[in-house]
This record gives sequence, C-alpha cells and structure tokens, in this order.
Amino acid sequence: MKRKTVQRDAIQGVFLKKNRPLKVDEILEIGRSMVESLNQATVYRNLKLLVESGWLRTIHHPYAGTLYERAEKAHHYHFHCRSCDRIFELPGCALDKRQSTPPGFLAEGHEVFLFGVCSSCRAVAAKR
Ligand SMILES: [Zn+2]
Ligand SMILES: [Zn+2]
Repeated sequence: MKRKTVQRDAIQGVFLKKNRPLKVDEILEIGRSMVESLNQATVYRNLKLLVESGWLRTIHHPYAGTLYERAEKAHHYHFHCRSCDRIFELPGCALDKRQSTPPGFLAEGHEVFLFGVCSSCRAVAAKR
C-alpha cells in the first residue's frame, strides 16, 4: 500500500517539477530518477487513476501523440518544438469565439497547436 502511494507521489512530482505536458516515456524516465521501482505498467496505472480523479487530463496532439498535463490549468495553447519534440504551454488566447463560429453554431471549446523551434533549440543551433 505504502509503495503505491510513493509511486503516485513521484508521478505527481514529475508534473509539478516540469510544468508542461509530458509523454509516458518522459514521465517514466523522470519518475525513475525519484522512485526506482517505477515501470511502464505502474506509470500507466497511476496515470489512469490520476485522469479519473481529475488531477490530470489527456491531450491528443496531432504530432506528438498522447500527452498528460495537470487538469487544473487555465485554457492555453500548445507549442510543439520539432527539434527536441517537447510540448510547451502558451498562456492566453487569441481567438474570438463569437467571430469564429457561424451563426447558429455553439462552440464548446477549441485547441490550438503551434509548431516550430523552442528557444533552447534555437540557442544551440546559433552556436554551431
Ligand atoms: Zn526544442
Ligand atoms: Zn497544456
């Protein structure tokens, strides 16, 4: 029982530390540096529980696939770096909901995926 709590705490700790959407392999890699007993099965099981309890939500990204992020975050966009394959969060919203839906339509939400190169990858490229 204790071990289960330790594993879940570690996974939650990964999200608090990184503060960006994460893929399962990233969660596993970072989580294992905290708790060695983590493996793919325990990560999947705990992610499922954390989604069910409303602590995490799933993102289905068109390029990066399935990612997890904390559910409590306010609406934001996602930026995919095609160089390091990480997803970053861009706060704010540029879309006017009233303008972007035809009359009679009810928009219930939207997602925006930006892509390009992140600042640290650009800095590395500039040094070469
Ligand atoms: Zn990058
Ligand atoms: Zn996000």
